[in-house]
Amino acid sequence: MDPLWLLLLLPTAAAGGWVMAKRERRAERRKHLPEAYFKGLSFLLNEQPDEALRVFLEVVEVDSETVEIHLALGNLFRRRGEIERATRIHQNLVARSDLDPGLREQALFELAQDYFKAGLFDRAESLFRELRRAPDYRAQACRFLMQIYDQEKEWESAIRAAEELARAAGADMSQPLAHYYCELAEQAIADGRNARAGRHIESAFRHDPHCIRAVIQSGRLASMSGNHINAISIWRGLERWAPQALGEVVDHVANSYTALGDAKSYKKFLEDALARNPDARFIAALVELVSREEKDEAGRKLLVDLVRRHPSIEGLHELLKSRAASGGGERENRDFALLADLLSQVVGQGRGYHCRTCGFSSNSLHWQCPGCKNWGTVQKRAAAEPLRRAVAMQPPA
Ligand SMILES: [Zn+2]
Repeated sequence: MDPLWLLLLLPTAAAGGWVMAKRERRAERRKHLPEAYFKGLSFLLNEQPDEALRVFLEVVEVDSETVEIHLALGNLFRRRGEIERATRIHQNLVARSDLDPGLREQALFELAQDYFKAGLFDRAESLFRELRRAPDYRAQACRFLMQIYDQEKEWESAIRAAEELARAAGADMSQPLAHYYCELAEQAIADGRNARAGRHIESAFRHDPHCIRAVIQSGRLASMSGNHINAISIWRGLERWAPQALGEVVDHVANSYTALGDAKSYKKFLEDALARNPDARFIAALVELVSREEKDEAGRKLLVDLVRRHPSIEGLHELLKSRAASGGGERENRDFALLADLLSQVVGQGRGYHCRTCGFSSNSLHWQCPGCKNWGTVQKRAAAEPLRRAVAMQPPA
């Protein structure tokens, strides 16, 4: 062979030798791995996690190829609720200067989750913000950031995280975004900055044109500026596309009709609402109106009639309260009061609202479900449902 060729092949041969030597070194190290790892594993199985942790942390110092095992271990500790141990493992990994960039990102993501789970939101936020720049972790980091900003009530930051998540993962963020703007509107209303609140409400509608909360706020803004006709018209818009939500605005509508001195239109509104949806709030409001405008006896007759036509536990509760205060005999009043009191506990258990995502039940409307933290998923049960549920709960005779 031409000596020149031999010269050219020299670096290749040297490189080949280096690769072989490295493989041999790795194989050599692997021979020693099981002993240390079995020792650590044995401690772990014997419920001696501190000893196990010590062994594993020592091994990671001498071998760079066990990173994934350590990531799995850290994950295991976190799942077991041993956040401090998980954090130590992940901190130890992140501190290594020779870590492959991909594995470093993975270790950072795990560490950020440890901080999140431990409630150390400042530290978690800082790491998730760093991970936002890593394409593989961008969407997941945004999801965690949204949860942090949700809890910290930092709505503007939550909006930025949700918009980025929508772009990164193509996820539908219309519900949380609409509610974040409603939160901002609520703050602006509290600060007396109504024009600003109006702009936030418009943004909420841009994300979710059927945002019931934004409808309620929009009507409130109109009524605050004395424009009650406009306010009523905004709230009554729900009659067309969300009659199930009309019960949420009945008090607002009542106040605006009272301000206008228009009891007749208010009565018509309640009768129409009741025809669409036998919500006990309409029954109570209608009876109160009739009792006030006509006389108590007319209100009581109407109540009996409505409860017959739209049977519900809430309606029956109203009826008993009314009978207890009807001025009959003292003993009779006391008996009805006792029954009303007992039934109020059933009304409480009836839990008129539920989350369509996780099934969480409550007595009041939550814009964000306390169970699954989703926005806009809690809704009123159908009016007859509490009665059916209460009957189903009765023990057999
Ligand atoms: Zn839920």
